[in-house]
Amino acid sequence: MHEPEGYECPFCRIAAGHQARRVVHRTDDVMVLVNIKWWPNNPGGLLVVPVEHHENVYELPPALGTPLQRAIRDAALALKSAFGCDGVSTRQHNEPAGNQDVWHHHTHVFPRYHGDDLYRSRGAMVPTEEVDRMAALLRQHWPAVEDQSDLAVTVAGKPAAAGCLLYDDAGRILVVEPTYRDTWGIPGGALEPGESPLDGLRREVLEELGLAVEIGPLLAVDHRRAVDSIRFVFDGPILAAEEIAAIALPADELRSFRFVELDEATRLLQPDLARRIRTALDHRGAGAAVYLEDGALAAPTQPRPSPPA
Ligand SMILES: [Zn+2]
Repeated sequence: MHEPEGYECPFCRIAAGHQARRVVHRTDDVMVLVNIKWWPNNPGGLLVVPVEHHENVYELPPALGTPLQRAIRDAALALKSAFGCDGVSTRQHNEPAGNQDVWHHHTHVFPRYHGDDLYRSRGAMVPTEEVDRMAALLRQHWPAVEDQSDLAVTVAGKPAAAGCLLYDDAGRILVVEPTYRDTWGIPGGALEPGESPLDGLRREVLEELGLAVEIGPLLAVDHRRAVDSIRFVFDGPILAAEEIAAIALPADELRSFRFVELDEATRLLQPDLARRIRTALDHRGAGAAVYLEDGALAAPTQPRPSPPA
C-alpha cells in the first residue's frame, strides 16, 4: 500500500457526492469523471473509477471487471461522439514506479488524434469551470440506455446484433416487450463469440420464444453511427398456430409478445429499430439485402446486370 496514513482520497470524496459537476456518468459500481489534468493535444480525458475504494489493480475485485469495462467502452464512445477523435487510448497506473499518483484505482481514457504526441507531452491542471463544462458536454454524448446491452461480438471492431421478423398468418409482425425497458423489440440480440449472425439469431429466438425456427433471407444490414454498431435484420417465417401457442417467454427478460401491423410496430419499437425495419420491408422485393446507415438506405438498389449464363 502506498497511500499515506490519514489519506483523504479525492475519488472517495467524489463518490460521497462532492464535485458532482465533474461526474459524466455513474452507476452503483463505477463513476466516470473528467480528468482535472489535460494533455495539450488531448483535452477532455476521462477517468473511470470504481465507486468503492481499492488502491490498485492488485486489489481490484474481479466482479468489477464487467462494470468497469462497460464504463470504459461507453467513455470511449462518448469521446468519439463528442470530439470525432481519430482514436481512443486507455492507461491504468499502479504504484509510484507505475506513475500512480492518486491511491484509488482509475483508468484513463484519452481521446487520440493522429500525431498528437500524447506520450511525450505533459498534462496541466485545467480550471474547474472548464472541467465542469466538458463533463456537461460529454454527458450529452453518453450512449443511450438502450445501447447498454452487452454486445460482445464485433464486426470490424463494431458491436454486432441480429434480429428477425416473424409473422402470423395475417402478416402481422411479432414484437416482444422486455422487462427492463419501455420500448418493445423484435426477437434477436447480441452475437456471442464464435457465432455467425444467423447462428446467434437462431439461439436468441430459441432462448426468447422457445421456438426453433427456419430463419429466412437477410433483409438489411444497418450501421448505427451513434454507437458505431452493426445490426442485421433477417426475414423469418410465418409461424403456425401451434408454434404461436407454444411460445414460452423467459420471465426475467420478456414480459409479453403480440402480433401487430407495421404502423403499430413503429409506434412500439425503439425508434432506430422501427426505422430499420420499415426501410428493410420497403425494399423486401428487391431480391437482395439493403445496406442502411441509421436506418436509411445508404447504397442504391438498382437492378444488377444478369450474371452470364
Ligand atoms: Zn478512494
